[in-house]
Amino acid sequence: MSELHYDLMDLSVGAPAIRTPRSASDAAISAILAGHTTYTPRRGIPELLAAIRFKFDRVNGVAFTEDEIFVGAGAKHVLFCLLSAILKPGDEVVVPSPHYVGYPGLVRRAGGVPVFVDVRAEPDQVLGVAALAKVLGPRTRAVILNTPSNPTGAVIPAARLRELGTCVRAHSDAYIISDELYETFVYEGEHTSIASMSEFAAATIVVNGVSKTYGMTGWRIGYAGGPADVIQHAVTIQAELSNCPSSIGQWAGWGAITDPEASTETVAVQRARRDRAVAALQGLPGVDVSPPSGGIYLFADLTHVGRDPGDPRAPLPPGEFVDFAEAVHGVRLGAGAKFGAPHHARLTFAIDDDVLDEGLTRISEAVAEVYRKP
Ligand code: PLP
Repeated sequence: MSELHYDLMDLSVGAPAIRTPRSASDAAISAILAGHTTYTPRRGIPELLAAIRFKFDRVNGVAFTEDEIFVGAGAKHVLFCLLSAILKPGDEVVVPSPHYVGYPGLVRRAGGVPVFVDVRAEPDQVLGVAALAKVLGPRTRAVILNTPSNPTGAVIPAARLRELGTCVRAHSDAYIISDELYETFVYEGEHTSIASMSEFAAATIVVNGVSKTYGMTGWRIGYAGGPADVIQHAVTIQAELSNCPSSIGQWAGWGAITDPEASTETVAVQRARRDRAVAALQGLPGVDVSPPSGGIYLFADLTHVGRDPGDPRAPLPPGEFVDFAEAVHGVRLGAGAKFGAPHHARLTFAIDDDVLDEGLTRISEAVAEVYRKP
């Protein structure tokens, strides 16, 4: 057996290794010193709401009014408030799968039922219209679209967004919840917000935040734009839960969003890491992975790892390789089961180069050793 590694290389993290921009920290410190440390308006401070409006308009081509926006304690909390606002017990929410770990729990906590649509067999793992049409019906209250996707990295092209939106409208009265948290991480194609298509605007809610783009997961600031009545209801729920998001976090978010230089790591840097990681994994026997168009993760199919073609034994049990790689080779991957794909593993490539490279080396060692096992 190989030597044990105690210095774990954690490639399972759900965030890029990006430092909070100086402008955000400065804004937060100034806010503390100026005494902006009390409750804020329930939907967020006017300065941040104005900055978000401007960003939606300039970057996404969506013109929201102030009563169509609110700020919450991270995109996850924003999603919970929105789902709680629109769902009645038993309402269905369509969740393309593989999916962000948080969606099923959020939907269930809000009283809904997640309806998963497997996109793995679709070209580029982008939700197809036929697959969507099959699950839409009178009980469907929302369809979640996550572009770029966590974990697959799929970016939904504008033409497909239009088809999907048309399909939702034809077969249901559902809202489209467009989770665009990774919008700045796009390597192929371009990010389009479905909310910019006027025919769907009345039933589309965009969720976004500062967590990934600016390396600000701990500040807990997310936001949404959508129909005023839904947003107002979500704000009421937020007020019942926590009054408002953190005042200091909001000022930090304002500092980041209003600073044109704030996104420190360029797309070129992440693309180079993506390509290195793909090249390292594609050469490994049994590992099936392709370069994602966006996001910060590789989502590798490990079904055949450890089994030569023609080997009559069953594939390794789901998750076994992930456990083995961590226990014996000191590299942590995200087990696919949480994302709805038990034989897959998620790997974050938007991390420091030395951690990424050492992690990739250890994965290749782990794969080699699995093949040597009896
Ligand atoms: N949506 C997606 C697709 C995510 O990947 C995450 C976090 O990983 C969230 C929402 C939650 O983000 P936040 O940290 O802002 O709550």
